[in-house]
Amino acid sequence: MDIYFFNTLSRQVEKFTPLQPGKVGFYACGPTVYSSAHIGNLRTYVFEDIVRRTLQAANYEVQHVMNVTDVGHLESDADDGDDKMSLAAQREQKSPWEIAKAYEKRFFADCEALHLLPPNVICRATEHIELMQQFIEGLQQKGLTYEVDGNVYYSTSQFEQYGKLWGGGRNQDCQQARVESDPRKQNPCDFVLWFSQSKFPHQIMKWPSPWGEGFPGWHIECSAMASRYLGERIDIHAGGIDHVSVHHTNEIAQSEGLFGHKWVNYWLHGEFLVLHKEKMAKSQGNTLTLQTLRDHGFDPLHYRYLCLTAHYRKQLLFSWEALQGAKNSFEALKNRALSWKFATGTSQTSAQLLQQYRNTFWQAVAHDLGTPSALACLWDLAKDQTVSKQDKWTLIQEFDQILGLGVASFTRPQLEPHLQKLIDERQHLRQNKQWQQADQLRDQLLQQGVQVQDTPTGSDWYLCYRDE
Ligand code: AMP
Ligand code: ZN
Repeated sequence: MDIYFFNTLSRQVEKFTPLQPGKVGFYACGPTVYSSAHIGNLRTYVFEDIVRRTLQAANYEVQHVMNVTDVGHLESDADDGDDKMSLAAQREQKSPWEIAKAYEKRFFADCEALHLLPPNVICRATEHIELMQQFIEGLQQKGLTYEVDGNVYYSTSQFEQYGKLWGGGRNQDCQQARVESDPRKQNPCDFVLWFSQSKFPHQIMKWPSPWGEGFPGWHIECSAMASRYLGERIDIHAGGIDHVSVHHTNEIAQSEGLFGHKWVNYWLHGEFLVLHKEKMAKSQGNTLTLQTLRDHGFDPLHYRYLCLTAHYRKQLLFSWEALQGAKNSFEALKNRALSWKFATGTSQTSAQLLQQYRNTFWQAVAHDLGTPSALACLWDLAKDQTVSKQDKWTLIQEFDQILGLGVASFTRPQLEPHLQKLIDERQHLRQNKQWQQADQLRDQLLQQGVQVQDTPTGSDWYLCYRDE
């Protein structure tokens, strides 16, 4: 089964070919654990989960590595501002280690609630400091660095292909993109590999190094840990679109600078979640967390469903109305799926038609993760009167390997007692062949949102939702 991805590097949709048959090395930049992830961050991880599930559905063995940034990420993705971990420690009157531990735990709880498959390797920056120092020493030996006041900088002018990921002319773009004020830099694109005390005299997280006591820059952790767990050549590297111009550009400079060859074959980037025309970001003060959604009566899976309704390379506009729409669709799907699950009788659908649905669904997903088309296919199936309920139940479970909506564990809600009573009464009437009265009760139930269906083997019900 072929899979196609849009590769940011080539700016084209390309057929995916792994480095080794049947295996995929997949690195996804993880969270900076200085506060709760917002639902914008989580959109990116949902997209990465779909990448992983798609590869697995095509029988690839995926080695999924995710870092946890618990040191070194400054307020701007370039080298400006304060250390995010230190700021959070001051704000919450805790040590940066306590902050990291608490928010990492919360992050992975959010991931679980969203049905994200856990990475095979989760690696914390603070546990790989020596590895990063070795990487920096390697870059030094290659003549790609310079040192000023105990800070080690990457000299981007020594790396011929700097900026190839975003295809911009180097200097001009750097100046436009990064308003930064470190006079020690020889070139505005240069970035810090190791901060000594000279930047933050009160830095709490610091380690000895050949260049003075200090801490690593943000970008070096991904280059160092990715090669530690996946080797010097990687199939896929993913992250949010904001990582293209700085973080991933600098990762490429570091890794390809050291290894002397192409590092990553496919670069995948997810677009932003947007609120009131602005990117959702802590710096904009417009963030919502999964907990905020719960507080408004939504399940995390309603948000997952919302993410699936938009293509990952398109901005997704968040609104409560949009989330309500996703909830309605998800709950309606759930009710239908439950009516399929409990259906009795034998399957009569043509095998050819079922295969058509499988093909349409797979084509949608395999062609650059077209989840909106995949959902449309699922709804076509749901509404197709010529497909038996049993077959619908079989297919939706197959599709859920990609969608991750938790179909297998859907449970039917408890009906309110007065509705259950009406269903029982109607059953009784049918047994006595009092068809007219039974039909009246069916209409009465429908008015109250319960659709009753009679099959040769008995009656079944599901809840109607607003889209029906
Ligand atoms: P951070 O924890 O800040 O390092 O960000 C974690 C991930 O979330 C990165 O891959 C970012 O690119 C991504 N991200 C940040 N803001 C948004 C947003 N509004 N929508 C989608 N992804 C985002
Ligand atoms: Zn990274």
